[in-house]
Amino acid sequence: MDREIRRADVVIAGGGASGLAAAIELGMKAPDLNVLVIEKMPEPGRKIRATGSGRCNISNTGAAGFSRIMEFFREIGLVTKAYGNGLVYPYSESAADVVALLTERAASLGVNFACGEEIVSVKYLPATLAADAAPGSRNIFRLESVIKDRDGLRSITTHASFVILAMGGKAGPAYGTIGDGYRIARNLGHRVVTPVPALTGIECDEWDAGHVPCGITLGGTRSAGVVSLYKDPREVFGEETKVFEEAGEIQFTRYGLSGICVFNMTRQMRYDRRAGESLDEFLVKVDQFPGGKIAEYIRDRQRGRFADTPVGEILRTVLKEPLADYVIASADDGPDENGRILADRQLSSLSDEEVRSIADHVHSLEFHPVQIRGWNDAQVTMGGVSLDEINEATSESLLIKGLYLTGELADRDFQCGGYNLSNAWITGLAAADDIAQ
Ligand SMILES: Cc1cc2nc3c(=O)[nH]c(=O)nc-3n(C[C@H](O)[C@H](O)[C@H](O)COP(=O)(O)OP(=O)(O)OC[C@H]3O[C@@H](n4cnc5c(N)ncnc54)[C@H](O)[C@@H]3O)c2cc1C
Repeated sequence: MDREIRRADVVIAGGGASGLAAAIELGMKAPDLNVLVIEKMPEPGRKIRATGSGRCNISNTGAAGFSRIMEFFREIGLVTKAYGNGLVYPYSESAADVVALLTERAASLGVNFACGEEIVSVKYLPATLAADAAPGSRNIFRLESVIKDRDGLRSITTHASFVILAMGGKAGPAYGTIGDGYRIARNLGHRVVTPVPALTGIECDEWDAGHVPCGITLGGTRSAGVVSLYKDPREVFGEETKVFEEAGEIQFTRYGLSGICVFNMTRQMRYDRRAGESLDEFLVKVDQFPGGKIAEYIRDRQRGRFADTPVGEILRTVLKEPLADYVIASADDGPDENGRILADRQLSSLSDEEVRSIADHVHSLEFHPVQIRGWNDAQVTMGGVSLDEINEATSESLLIKGLYLTGELADRDFQCGGYNLSNAWITGLAAADDIAQ
C-alpha cells in the first residue's frame, strides 16, 4: 500500500460547522499558516445542508457568543435575518447557500481541503521525539488517514503543529458523524462521557405503526399542545416530579411522539441502554386544551342546545378527530346500560365524574416512553469529551497543548433553535483565534 507523507501547520479534522468556521478564521487571522481540512465525506458541510430542514437555523439571539457569531458572518458576507422568537436564519433561508459560502471563503483564503479522506488516528509526539519535526515546531501531531477509491486503499500520514478535532458527535451518521472523534480523543487520553442521542422523537408503549392501544390511528396527526415530562411515576405525581414542560406542535407519528417540544424534552431523558438503564422512570403527559378548561366547556354545553349531542361530536369541535376519538376511548369505562360507548352518549347523560375523567384525559393524556429514537433521527449528541479537560475560552485541550476540541464532540448540547450550530461556530472561532495568536 502506497503511503504519502505531508505537513500542515494546522490540521482541522472534520469539515463541518466548527471546522469550517475555524478554517475561515485562520485564513483571515493567520494567512501565513498552512491550514488543511481533512473531511471524510466527498465534500464539507454535509450536515449543515440538512439543518433547519434545509433552511439552516444558523443561530439564536439568546445564544452564548451571539454577537461574535454575527460579526463573523458579516465579515464573510452572509446576510441573516432574526425572527421575533430569536431564531436566526440566512436571508436566503438556504442551508446549501451557507455551505457554498463557507467553503468558497475558506478556499479563497488559501485553506486546503482533503475530502473523501478518513482520519483513523491522531498521535501526539512531543517535538523532540519526532524525527521529522519541522524546525521550530512547538509540538507535533501525526495523523493517519485513508482514502478508499477504485484503486483500493491509500494511506496518508500528516504532520502538524496544531490539530483541531472538529469531528462532531454521533447524531445523523448519514452526514459523516459516527463517533470517530470519541475514539481519537480517548486515545489521546481524554475522558468521554457516554454519548446518547437527543433532540429526537420518543417511541411509546403499545404503539404499533401509529395505532395506539384503542386501535385508533394517531400517526400523522399534528396538534398544538403542551408536553410535560414526569420523572419516577412510581412516586405520587405532583409538581415536584415534573421535570420539563413546553408548549408547541406535537406530532403523533407511526412510532410515538415528535415535534420540537418533544425533541427538547429528550434532553431531560438521559439514559444509557447499554448499561441496562430504561425509560421506566419517565411518563409523558400531553395537554391538548392548554389555557382552557375542557370540563367547563362540556358543562356549558350539557345545559344548552347541545345537550343531546354525542360526546364524540362535541370533543371533535376542539380536538382533531383522531385525538378526540383517542381521548374518549381512553376515558371510556365500558358501555352504559343501553350498550352505548362513551363517544355515542348524549352530553346531558354524563355524570360529573365522567366529565372529570374526560377532562383528565384531555389535559393529561398519558404516554409511556419505551425508547428514544436512535442516532439516525437525532439532531444532537448528549455526552462527549469531558468539559473538565477543555479550556472553554479557547477550546484547547487541558491535557495536550496544541490540540483543540470543538463543536458537538465536546460534552455540550442545547435545545432546538440555533443553539447547537452557535456552539459549533463559537468554539471553532475560539480555537482559531487562539492558534492565530
Ligand atoms: C438533521 C439535523 C438538523 C439540524 N438542524 C439544526 C439547526 O437548524 N440549528 C442548529 O443549531 N443545529 C442543528 N443541528 C445540529 C448541528 O447541525 C450540529 O450540532 C453541528 O453541525 C455540529 O457541528 P460540528 O462542527 O461539531 O460537527 P459536524 O457539523 O457534524 O461536522 C463534523 C464533520 O466531521 C467529519 N468527520 C467525522 N469523522 C471524521 C473522520 N474520521 N475523518 C474525517 N472527517 C470526519 C464529518 O463528516 C463531518 O463533516 C441539526 C442536526 C441534524 C442532524
